[in-house]
Parts: sequence; structure tokens; C-alpha cells
Amino acid sequence: MIIIMQDKATEKDVQDVISRVEDFGYMPKLLEGSVRTVIAALGDARDKARLQALESLSHVESVMPILKPYKLCSHEVQSEKTIIDVNGVKIGGDKVVVMAGPCSVEGEEQIMKTAQAVKEAGASILRGGAFKPRTSPYSFQGMEEEGLKLLRKVSDAIGLPIVTEVMNPREADLVHEYTDIMQIGARNVQNFSLLKEVGKLKKPILLKRGLSTTIEEWLMSAEYILSEGNSNVILCERGIRTFEKATRNTLDLSAIPVTKELTHLPVIVDPSHGVGYWQYVASMSKAAVACGTDGLMIEVHWKPEEAFSDGPQSLKPHKFSKLMQELRPVAQAVARTI
Ligand code: PEP
Ligand code: MN
Repeated sequence: MIIIMQDKATEKDVQDVISRVEDFGYMPKLLEGSVRTVIAALGDARDKARLQALESLSHVESVMPILKPYKLCSHEVQSEKTIIDVNGVKIGGDKVVVMAGPCSVEGEEQIMKTAQAVKEAGASILRGGAFKPRTSPYSFQGMEEEGLKLLRKVSDAIGLPIVTEVMNPREADLVHEYTDIMQIGARNVQNFSLLKEVGKLKKPILLKRGLSTTIEEWLMSAEYILSEGNSNVILCERGIRTFEKATRNTLDLSAIPVTKELTHLPVIVDPSHGVGYWQYVASMSKAAVACGTDGLMIEVHWKPEEAFSDGPQSLKPHKFSKLMQELRPVAQAVARTI
């Protein structure tokens, strides 16, 4: 439920409502707008009649249900867009933020060379996996903590914040220690223990859409993170599983305008996993910018033919650089920068 305070309500009145909400067993979330204060009461809807009764207080204007199943993520609770600041890089603002780098960290020279190249081309965030979710247990599983150390070293040396995946609640603190953004991969989008764990942390979370999650399920997963207190969630569309076999997944670009209408959280696109072949990455990146993405996550490898994972979908640095140039007029056409 949303409790809208009278515009002349004092701080004491607000505190009074917050403690009543807590006494009813709900979690209050204070949302201070420029015009008036709103308190979202989160909890089991079965007991909502008690919250409704708060309408009789003189300092409360009205009490309304939040219609969407996700609450804190919804535009009903927050009308203005969330802008997430990652060491000065703002995600969700006018600039389309590009995250680029290899699928996996494979060694110091590889990550350093790739990081320098993507920075030079205009990327603002370096990506690279240290814990890798592989379909086969016999495939390269990632350099783990060694990979995290290399990412941190390269990040500090060249000044690009990093995003890397956390696969397991047991490793959440470890990954948190090294990274700037924690990525929850497509396969873990409904790993609710992991979502709760990262919700307790403070660093921004990049939450990929699952292989077969609906937009509503994806937003419910984001809600798990927000409800634990971490409101810095970036949603990432990365393709869904359909009957089509010509591409690795089917990149659902309609998810951008749809999701942005439903939530105030930034929404970005990963065209690399979306299509699975480097040849289509540029077209889909341009299309994603045209339809309003807040960012792109693109796999770039200095030698894709030797990559330990996802070589076929990785761009060589010069192709990535060319793409960055081509994206500029597209961004400009939709009143964004890149
Ligand atoms: C990745 O970003 O390398 C990755 C494994 O992504 P996804 O979870 O979308 O498959
Ligand atoms: Mn990958």
C-alpha cells in the first residue's frame, strides 16, 4: 500500500505513520518527493485493511494499493528514473553507458590489452567474468579469485570501473570486495537466496533477464534485491530462449520500452549473448540505442579465435571501436549521448 501524507504533514507526523506501519508488521519505505511525502508499506497484502484505516488520521491524505506485484521497482512508488552512480559513471541518465570487455578473464595481458582498447574506443565500464556459469562442467569455469584480482588491478591502472558476475551466495562478499558492479547472470535470475544476499550489500547489481523469465518475473527478482535495502539495480536484457535457432537467443528489444514503462530502474541490453554471433552485434546495438536502452554490455576480445569462452560472439577491438563511432549519430537521433 502507498500512504500519501498531507502536504502540511510534519516530520513527527511522518514518524507516527512509520511506527504504525511497523507495528502492523509491514516494512515502511519513506519516499520524499519534492511536493509531498509518501510511505510505501510493504508486506503481506492479507492484512491491508489495517493500513487502509490510517486514512482516518488527519495528517494522511490517502492510502492506496500498489497494483503491481513488484512494488519498490514500480513507477507507482517512484515516478522519477533511478540514476545509479558507479564511481562517477551515471547509469540511467542521458548518456548511454557502454560496458565492454571479454566474456572471461583469462590472464593479465589479455584483460589489460582488452581494457585499454575498450577504454580508448569510449567504453565507460570494463566487463569480465571470473566465476563463469558454463553449460558443461568440463568447460573453463573461470579464474575465480585470481581473476577478480586481475580485474581490480587493471581497473585501478586504467581507471575504468568493473562489472563481474557473482554466482553463489557464498562468494558474494568476496566478489563485493573486488568489483564495482555485481552481475547476476541469466541462470541465477531466480536464485532467491543469492538475490537476498546481494540485496544486503551496497554495490550496484546488474540483473540479467533469465533465459525464459517474463518481464514481470524479472521485475519480481529485482524486487527481492530492493526489498533487502539495495535499490541500485540495473536490469539487463540478454535474449530469451525461443524456437529460433539461427541466433543463440532471441534478443527481445521490445523489453526495453515495455520494462522502462513499468519501472524506474535503468534498463540496458547485452546484444552479444542476445545473438551469439559477432556479425549481428553492431546492428542490434544500434537498434537497442534507437529504442531507448540506458546502456550496452558488449563482449570484446583481443583474439576472439583464442577466447576461453564466447569467442564467436566477441568483437575484435577495432570492430568495437568502429561500432562506437556508428552509435553516436543513433544516440543523437534519440536525444541521448554515448
Ligand atoms: C556473461 O555475461 O558472460 C554471461 C554468462 O551472461 P548471461 O548470464 O546473460 O548468459
Ligand atoms: Mn559470455
